[in-house]
Amino acid sequence: MTGRPGRLAIIIIGGGASGVLLAAHLLSDPEADIRVTLIEKRQAFGQGLAYSTTLDDHILNVSALGMSAYADDPEHFWHWLERTGRAPDKNPRKLYLPRHLYAEYLAGILDEMRAREAQSGRLHMMSEECVSAAATPSGVAVDLANGTSLVGHIAVLAVGHEEQPLVGKDIAIRPGSEADTPVDPDADVLILGTGLSMVDAWLSLVAHGHRGHVVALSRRGLLPSMHRKGNPIRLDAADVPLGTELSYFVRWFRDLVRTTVRAGGDWRDVVDGIRPFNQKIWRSWPPSARRRFIEHTRAWWDIHRHRMPPDLHERVTQAVTDGTLELATGKLVGASREGDAIAATIKRRGAPGPETLHVARVYDCTGITADLTTGTNPVVRALIDRGLARPDPLHIGLDVTEGCAIIKADGQPSERLYAIGPLTRGAFFEIEAIPDIRVQCSMLAKNLTERARMAQAG
Ligand SMILES: Cc1cc2nc3c(=O)[nH]c(=O)nc-3n(C[C@H](O)[C@H](O)[C@H](O)COP(=O)(O)OP(=O)(O)OC[C@H]3O[C@@H](n4cnc5c(N)ncnc54)[C@H](O)[C@@H]3O)c2cc1C
Repeated sequence: MTGRPGRLAIIIIGGGASGVLLAAHLLSDPEADIRVTLIEKRQAFGQGLAYSTTLDDHILNVSALGMSAYADDPEHFWHWLERTGRAPDKNPRKLYLPRHLYAEYLAGILDEMRAREAQSGRLHMMSEECVSAAATPSGVAVDLANGTSLVGHIAVLAVGHEEQPLVGKDIAIRPGSEADTPVDPDADVLILGTGLSMVDAWLSLVAHGHRGHVVALSRRGLLPSMHRKGNPIRLDAADVPLGTELSYFVRWFRDLVRTTVRAGGDWRDVVDGIRPFNQKIWRSWPPSARRRFIEHTRAWWDIHRHRMPPDLHERVTQAVTDGTLELATGKLVGASREGDAIAATIKRRGAPGPETLHVARVYDCTGITADLTTGTNPVVRALIDRGLARPDPLHIGLDVTEGCAIIKADGQPSERLYAIGPLTRGAFFEIEAIPDIRVQCSMLAKNLTERARMAQAG
């Protein structure tokens, strides 16, 4: 399956946004002597968890000017919107569009690539689940759920987010998953988590005419903040403290916010100004600082970093004010089925004892994988079981090098297996959104096409 002899065969496992972006970056060099095989278990490519929704209310949390597939062509998405007659008469910097439009954009990129590469044979797409991958002496072997195998030179894992619930297994479900069947509109619902995924789940309920009470529960009960266009501060790399204790860094950050606000700016100017350095800061921290950040600072960071567009923020805060959406601070301590209903026992912070809620549905919107080794993706499990990959020290992703090579159980980086996107969050942390993923894809594509060139020359 490697096509023309000598051609570097790259298998991308997972055809969500990350897989499609990598394919687009790889094939953007018409001279690259490569063959890209993109494997996706869903019917549709370019959708994955984030962009498979059809609801207009599920909007992008990055403005239209931030969502281009190419960092060096930031208006690419906007131009596609204009070309296809979908660009509203609004400032694209303040425009937050439905996420299904982004799925259409990625599908358009794939269609263009397919047409362009029809003669060259450089792009192949397969709708199948990948169940395992392994490095062989001459390349990689990838097994599919239909019992067939593919061989190539390089495999890149782009399998994205864990799709199974992390909390309350067998009771909770992920919004938008197959198990997410219609709920009785008058029944009460519990949502675990109070971040953007919670807002998504609540919007789906509202869109389906839900009238029952909705409780959103998290340890801190914090709602994401609102976007406001400001002027991100300009930081020099030398200004940013690297490799310090977390407490020192947090103090530096708070001082910077105070100074910025005193000078007439906004805290968002600091959060957005520091963004280009986020991966560098994360990588400079020892595992102990990263762990402390995840445990103590992340919830607070997330609500400032992952914000809601103003209109949506207003809708959600109105629902909280009028009581149809309740934000609860505490944790789930138990859950059991009662016929079609669920008895969910929660402990609110400061309450004398637990309380049982009788709900029709529990949604898990708690975010990132708590422990990759308990994840359900067969290809990730197979790699870990064979020692061909290992979890990062926090177990929130796979351990990878700065160049995205998967690090084996013995600590050696693989020369044939790579990972991109949310699966690499342990190494980069700020690698969930398109503006970061596209840079990662560009970097890896450059490295792999260079490798193809060297193989050709040698
Ligand atoms: C609800 C939600 C909304 C978001 N909104 C935004 C936004 O507005 N802007 C932004 O920049 N970012 C947003 N993000 C961040 C998001 O993580 C990225 O934008 C992007 O979707 C990540 O894509 P991915 O392909 O890495 O992961 P996923 O979207 O999880 O896609 C992974 C793909 O791999 C496939 N797959 C998995 N395992 C296998 C296997 N074994 N074999 C074959 N195929 C497999 C899956 O079917 C899926 O299609 C959002 C995330 C979520 C969850």
